[in-house]
Formats: sequence, C-alpha cells, structure tokens
Amino acid sequence: MAQSIRFEKVTKSMANETSIPLDVAVIGGGPAGISACLELSNSPGLRVALLEGDRELGGMPRSCHVFFGLRDRKRVYTGPAYARTLDRLVRRTPFQIYTGTRVLNIVPGNPGEGHRFLALSPEGPKPFQTRFLLLATGCFENSRSARLIPGARPAGIYTTGTLQDLVNLRRFKPGNRALIVGSEHVALSSVLTLRRAGTSIAAIVEEEKELQTYPLVAASVSRIFGVPVYRNTSVKAILGNKRVEGVELALGKNREALQIECDTVVMTGRFRPESSLIDGTSIEKDPSTDGPAVDMDLMTSVPNIFAAGNVLRGADMHDLCALEGKLAGRSILKRLESGETGVEPGTPFRAERPVRFVVPQMIHPSRIRKRLLSKLFPWTAFQVERTLINPVLEACSGKETIWEGAFSKLIANNRYPLPVEKFDWNRVDSGHRVTLKVRSADS
Ligand SMILES: Cc1cc2nc3c(=O)[nH]c(=O)nc-3n(C[C@H](O)[C@H](O)[C@H](O)COP(=O)(O)OP(=O)(O)OC[C@H]3O[C@@H](n4cnc5c(N)ncnc54)[C@H](O)[C@@H]3O)c2cc1C
Repeated sequence: MAQSIRFEKVTKSMANETSIPLDVAVIGGGPAGISACLELSNSPGLRVALLEGDRELGGMPRSCHVFFGLRDRKRVYTGPAYARTLDRLVRRTPFQIYTGTRVLNIVPGNPGEGHRFLALSPEGPKPFQTRFLLLATGCFENSRSARLIPGARPAGIYTTGTLQDLVNLRRFKPGNRALIVGSEHVALSSVLTLRRAGTSIAAIVEEEKELQTYPLVAASVSRIFGVPVYRNTSVKAILGNKRVEGVELALGKNREALQIECDTVVMTGRFRPESSLIDGTSIEKDPSTDGPAVDMDLMTSVPNIFAAGNVLRGADMHDLCALEGKLAGRSILKRLESGETGVEPGTPFRAERPVRFVVPQMIHPSRIRKRLLSKLFPWTAFQVERTLINPVLEACSGKETIWEGAFSKLIANNRYPLPVEKFDWNRVDSGHRVTLKVRSADS
C-alpha cells in the first residue's frame, strides 16, 4: 500500500518535472531493443535512448548456451558472445544508453502529441517525453505459484531463467538432484545447464500427453543424459520445509502416486510477455498473447508506440526477435519520414483455441507482399497450445472461409509461419475480423 502511494506521488511529480526530450525511446536492451537501435542509427541526428533495467545489456542471451546469431548476424555465437557483440555495436551509436534503469510506467499521449514515461535510474527517477516508443521488454516464465502447485515454500525452486543466471553467470551449483517440470525446448536447455553445474537430473515431467518440443531431440537428450521423461504427469506437491526434499507426482490417467527424491525443482516454459507497462493504458492488449496487439509494422493500437520481440507473445528464438526489432526500427524511420501520425485501419486477426495466438493482430491486405525475407522471417505467425496431429486449420471471416491448410503435425509452443498472402482477403467484409481456428485434428 505504502509502495503504491509512493509510486503515485512519483508519477504525479512527472507532470511538474522537466522531462528529457527524445525522438525515440527503446525500452529493453535485449536482441529486439538493440537491433531496433542499430536500425535507427541509419538515420543521423535522431535523439534516441535505450533503457535497460539490468546493469548489463544483451537480455536473455547473456545467460544462455550456443547457436545464437544465425539469422540476424549470419554467424554462430554462444549466448554471452552474442550479447557482448550486440552491446559493442549499440555502444558505437551516438545514442544515450541507460543501464540499471527500469521504466516504471508509460503515459501514451493523444495523436500528434508525445508519449511520457518515468524511469528509475541509479541517480533516482527520470521523466522522459518521446515522439516514438518501442517496447522490447521480453518475457518471463510462470513461477511455481502461478502453476498452482501446493506445498510449503522451501528453498531450491527455480525458473529456467533464474537457473541460467545462477549457473552461467554466477557459477553457483543449485543443488545435487533436480526435477524439471515442463517439456518445452527450454526444458532441454535446463538439462544442459544442470549438467554443467554438476547437478544430476531425476526426471522431466510433462502434464500433457505429448511433449511440447521436438520428440526426437527430447528422446536423444533423455537417452544421452539418462533422464526419464514422464508424460501425462503432474506435480501434486513439493515436499520439504526449509529445502526441497522431494516431489509427489500423479502419473497417467489413473493419477497413480509416485514420490521422487530431489533437492531442486526447475519450472520451465509457459512464457508470458513482460507487458505490465501497458496495463491500465490505452494500448490494446491481446488476451491470447497477453502482450500488445500490433499491426504489420509492429505498431500498437496507439500511434507511434511499437512493440517487438518476446513482449509480443512469450519466448521465441532470439534471432527472430532481433529481426522484429529491426523491422520496428525500420517502421519508425518510415513514419518519421512520412510524418504520418494516425493508425491505418486494417482487418483484425485473432486466434481461437487451441490456436494460442496469431501475430500480428492487425493485417493490411493491400500491403501483404511475397518476398524472400518473409520466408526467412515469418513474422505473420501462430502457435498452438497443445501438440496436434494431422490438423486442418482455417481462417474465417463471418461465414466465409478465406484460407485452409493441412499440417501433418503442429508442435505446441512452436511458432509457425502463416501464408497470409494466400488468404482470399477479397471475401472479408469490411468491419469483420478474421479468426484462425482448428477445423479438425486427430488428437
Ligand atoms: C529462460 C529463457 C531461456 C531462453 N533460452 C533461449 C535459447 O537458448 N535460445 C533462444 O534463441 N532463445 C532463448 N530464449 C528466448 C529469448 O528470450 C530470446 O532469444 C531473446 O532474448 C528475446 O529477445 P528480446 O529482446 O525480446 O527479450 P530479452 O532478451 O528478454 O530482453 C528484454 C530486456 O528488457 C529488459 N526490461 C524488461 N522490462 C523492463 C523495464 N520495465 N525497463 C527497462 N528494461 C526492461 C530486461 O531486463 C531485458 O534485458 C530464452 C528465454 C528465456 C526466458
């Protein structure tokens, strides 16, 4: 309560203090934010600031493993080397870089006006006023409490992000024997991180019948590292008071009980956009992603406020996030050049479960172009919330089906490109939205 009163006081004082004027503010110094800055540096004379809450730039890759940079930098780096390269490149630009500076709130202005925001820097609060704003704040994993797992709150429970930070950046051994909850790609990355720390792995546990990653890769990891994988299995309780002592599982259809001894639990996946800055603002949030809804230029529903990277939908590959940052930077430069201040009306595009989301959520059919880049960078994309075998998808507008496509398999939590250039947009009535749904599937 006291904290929220203090925050309100600081926010009110924004109106009285002289704001730092900017052309573009980029919030978040990960691959998306830095790539946007690099693109913006093609236009001389812009007043651009990059604001990063951590003390160092680079975002999530700073604590990740290998295979970074392929599609955006055309080279393969380790995560830390990739982050250092981005840091070096952005520091060569003339832009103001604020690290250790967390943006606390944003106040979108009316069309034609600037946008305001308040950041907490090591020197204290700083108010800013900017013509353009880019949200590149990334995503986070659901913690144990968000997964509604009962039990006490012993030490030894981590998300993958915290685990990577402890092991890869601080050289800390998290425990002796760990259980991994979830089977998205990042669960396999947790196996590597735990092995690097010298922690043995008791098992990987997945609630769903199907694994949420490539089955062949999961099978190889399981065989190479001798890690059993339990599907259709949930965590009933985490045991232990001071420190995790074990986990009680409910196995299969009959919910058979199994107790596993371990001193560490790693909660992986179930990523959500770090989009709290748009809560309570006029920026439209898409309930299916929990991130800002954007158009094909990655502009949100508020003119001149853009979003790129994992803030749009949860975790995706770093190089796609970087390319999105580049696209957002390019879109901002285009608007600066044209002087456009409004929002171009388009066709709203939404997902119906079990399609988890489509991004972007606003399509301008006249601007859909087939281009080589779109093959490399499938930014019109969707995800499904569970793995589907032989699904047929359809895009509908009212009673019209404007596209259908059959797939042999869609793996949950993978981003799939959507061929919007093949949609029959002429059959969409003005004012109608288009919905992507699953017409049929074997499972
Ligand atoms: C645990 C985990 C493991 C991953 N492993 C891989 C992997 O192995 N390979 C891969 O390709 N991808 C991986 N990813 C996905 C990864 O997030 C992307 O690769 C990439 O880092 C996304 O770039 P981004 O710029 O959108 O977000 P991020 O890299 O997350 O950067 C966002 C930045 O914004 C900052 N920020 C957030 N809020 C504020 C605020 N209010 N004010 C100021 N700064 C703020 C954060 O501190 C952060 O530095 C992983 C993601 C997670 C969470």
